[in-house]
Amino acid sequence: MNGKSLSSELKEIITGAKRLYANYGKDLLSDLGFMKVLDDYEKAIEDTARAMTSLSIWKMCAICGNSPKGSCCAPEVAIWYDAELVFVNLLMGCDVEKGQFYKDHCFFLGKNGCILKARHYYCVHYLCPEIKAILSAAELDMLYRTIGREILTGSNVLHYFEQWRKHHDGVIVA
Ligand code: SF4
Repeated sequence: MNGKSLSSELKEIITGAKRLYANYGKDLLSDLGFMKVLDDYEKAIEDTARAMTSLSIWKMCAICGNSPKGSCCAPEVAIWYDAELVFVNLLMGCDVEKGQFYKDHCFFLGKNGCILKARHYYCVHYLCPEIKAILSAAELDMLYRTIGREILTGSNVLHYFEQWRKHHDGVIVA
């Protein structure tokens, strides 16, 4: 980690996200095109949540998380995030600094699960071998399709922001 502690890297990421929010949040949230892609993303996140709940996956995660071995939300995952993805969480109304409930787990793991809505590819896509073993091929297929839509709509949001920002900053500079 280039000599930086996990907390200082995380602080940089969150500070960067808050800076993005201060600079762009208001304008972005009044851009209709952006609100459309953000809405698509939020719907896809809800679809994944429904699929996970219907297959009792989050219940199994909670049981595992409360066992001595703990959950798969490892501390280092928090710094796999970048400022842009944390910024998207701020746009969705998440209090990204509310985490750190479990000292030996990911900063974003709150008392009742992940406090983020826009999550990293790993967090959305990873299924442990125990969970995979109890799902049928059809259930896994349905789940991966749902997860795939979440990942795709999330990348649409980030892409839209990237393009919008170039235009926005260009307008400011001109
Ligand atoms: S799901 Fe949330 S709490 Fe778990 S590793 Fe990912 S960001 Fe951290």
